[in-house]
Amino acid sequence: MDLEAIETGARRRALAVAARAVERRLNADTSDQAAPTLRCGCGKDAHYAGRRRKTITTVLGDITLERAYYHCEACKGGFCPRDRALGVLGTSLSPAVTRMAGLVAAMVSFAESSELMQELAGVPVGAKQVERTAEGLGREIIQDERTVLDPEPPAAPTMYLGMDGTGVPMRACELEGRQGKQPDGSAQTREVKLVTVWSAEGRDPEGFPVRDTGSVTYSAAIESAASRDTDKALSAFAQRTNREAQRRGFDQAERRVVLGDGALWIWNLADELFSGAIQIVDLFHAKQHLSDVAKAIYGPANALGQQWAHQRHAELDAGKLVTLLGAIRRHASTHDEARKCLDYITRNQARMRYPAFRARGLCVSSGVVEAGCKLAIGTRLKRAGMHWTVAGADAIIALRCYRLSGRFEDFWERRSVRARAEVA
Ligand SMILES: [Zn+2]
Repeated sequence: MDLEAIETGARRRALAVAARAVERRLNADTSDQAAPTLRCGCGKDAHYAGRRRKTITTVLGDITLERAYYHCEACKGGFCPRDRALGVLGTSLSPAVTRMAGLVAAMVSFAESSELMQELAGVPVGAKQVERTAEGLGREIIQDERTVLDPEPPAAPTMYLGMDGTGVPMRACELEGRQGKQPDGSAQTREVKLVTVWSAEGRDPEGFPVRDTGSVTYSAAIESAASRDTDKALSAFAQRTNREAQRRGFDQAERRVVLGDGALWIWNLADELFSGAIQIVDLFHAKQHLSDVAKAIYGPANALGQQWAHQRHAELDAGKLVTLLGAIRRHASTHDEARKCLDYITRNQARMRYPAFRARGLCVSSGVVEAGCKLAIGTRLKRAGMHWTVAGADAIIALRCYRLSGRFEDFWERRSVRARAEVA
């Protein structure tokens, strides 16, 4: 007895029977041809011109629909009202398969998505079609995110908001004329900016605040954070950050904390949007910076360098910034990394008072923001061989952020309601 052969065979047959039943039921209903004429998009009347077939992929397998077709003499166009009613207008994927493609492509590459859909669900959808479908959903989500706010009260007395940027590899055509970090001054990436909001009421065994599981949301895009003094409107990323803050009740929280690395745009934005919020440089990032300086001075994997870095980390933890700055200054004239780090710490001193922050029970982070950036962007968009267009990257980023933030279900519900309303 080969159970695997029995179960997979039985599933295939059961699905095929169900597909034929659904097909018969849908095709038996010819109410879509009730009217002899219907108004065409061009404003003239379109006349019923028989039933036409279209094969669509459903979770049961392919089914062939016969739908009333209306032809318009004036514009030579035509349409099938049922396609809109069934949610298959302009696509050959059923709503359930569309949803499946969106969810899986939010997590893995389009090629892997195609394989998984075939392997797990027995639904054949090519990688290109997964890509088109997921990007289509992503574009809808970009709109949805801009228009649906649904503010919640803050989940905790202290709310945290982190901002970060990360480079995503782009197709050459998206980079023409852009300055970058390549030796010849050209660019290979565009920067995705991410805002993440969370609470940290829980404590680890040592009593330090830790991020509350399930409290994290993300929103990100390839957008500018810079707004000039002459600009009336906030930059695109500032508006995104504002929306996310409102959505999460960050702006209403008793205590608001903004976390980021040393990047200037983050603190400019924090000043602009959240004046009065506590600003903290992510401790993990600051330590990483010091480790990089150690490597620059002593070379990589050097015991002396590691010792030097450990001492600097300890000074940072203990709030001994004067001692720390002194130790770095000794190398500033000989090592560019050290000079930059000196500037960075000097500029951010007020945001690096870790003992004081900890005394107030604040999360100074150990890479929460950076980990968020890796999870939301890196693991999906920065894999070997991937090269994106701006529009394609933004669509998949939007899809992934909704999925990771627990917003996909609500989006799908709104989408279904809107589709039904359009038909009615
Ligand atoms: Zn027409």
